[in-house]
Amino acid sequence: MADKHRVTLIPGDGIGPEITSAARRIIDASGVGIEWDVVSAGLEAHDRYGTVLPESLFDSVRATNVALKGPIGTPIGEGFKSVSVRIRKTLELYANLRPMRSFAGVKSRYEGVDLVVVRENTEDLYSGIEHEVAPGVVESLKVITKQASKKIADFAFAYAKKRSRKKVTAIHKANIMKLSDGLFLEVVRATAKRYPEIEYEEMIVDNTCMQLVLNPERFDVLLTENLYGDIISEICAGLVGGLGFAPGANIGEHCSVFEAAHGSAPDIAGKDLANPTAITLSGCLMLKHLGEDRAANLIEGAIESVLVKGESLTRDIGGSATTSEFTEAVIEEMELTKKAPIDTSA
Ligand code: NAD
Repeated sequence: MADKHRVTLIPGDGIGPEITSAARRIIDASGVGIEWDVVSAGLEAHDRYGTVLPESLFDSVRATNVALKGPIGTPIGEGFKSVSVRIRKTLELYANLRPMRSFAGVKSRYEGVDLVVVRENTEDLYSGIEHEVAPGVVESLKVITKQASKKIADFAFAYAKKRSRKKVTAIHKANIMKLSDGLFLEVVRATAKRYPEIEYEEMIVDNTCMQLVLNPERFDVLLTENLYGDIISEICAGLVGGLGFAPGANIGEHCSVFEAAHGSAPDIAGKDLANPTAITLSGCLMLKHLGEDRAANLIEGAIESVLVKGESLTRDIGGSATTSEFTEAVIEEMELTKKAPIDTSA
């Protein structure tokens, strides 16, 4: 393992600077060596450089290959394109990864949920190809290609194998969209054949939504196109207690950007109230990506202990602690774990 990993840190807007600073403190306290290259994007970058997305951001991520990114706000209307979407497109981050698991101490309707959504990130109805055919009639094109389907299928099965996952479920609506979803399934089936050790199943998207709510424990890795993946990811976040516990990663062939699923929460920005759990868990995903599983597990364990003890919870999850107090509590838990005698009886 390299002594120090170089990582780009994009604080972002709203609560972004507070939560990325908390995540950075926690990650540094885990003992892993990281050299952070801090670059701005969003409103702060606009004020400083006259653009919400300076080229220096791409230079940094292309040099480090890895970024931890805070949320960035997008003004509604006025022709603004989402900065986060532009980052994903420019860096060709084709896979969106959302591992979702139940945490002890977090109120939710289910226990024992542990699943991963792998979502194609570049095409489908999100290609943005829309036109007016005649007054009062518009078309949005759903684009599915063999190439992008193969890339995401390869990614999902390789991920499942690496992380000892047992099953991949391909989500589709090929009974109606025979050509587009049919092509997606055809490509996924070919990939599945190369991984006989991983169970493979297919499920129609509407049934998947019901099965997720009835019995989420039956799922392991869910492999989806872009739109179904967007919706299913949010259902899955709901299963484990909401967006506050939903980490995420956008992975490309060369670069990867790790970020929480929630937005920039302008209503609580700058008040030391935000919950840094999801961005810190995204940081843990990043550490695993860098091969630093031990540090990631140490942090996840400490977060879980803080949640179980319930004494330093932020306001969004029923507590009254500040972002700083929550961060201190997680760091304290990590120190306790580091000092604990190692059990050699096993
Ligand atoms: P949001 O996720 O920012 O906020 C929704 C609600 O959840 C708010 O009440 C907020 O206070 C709360 N919340 C969110 N994160 C929280 C946290 N970590 N701790 C405590 N409470 C939290 O969603 P929104 O209001 O729809 O979007 C706000 C802005 O964020 C918009 O400009 C949107 O475009 C942007 N956004 C960015 C990203 C991204 O950068 N990846 C993702 C989603 C939304």
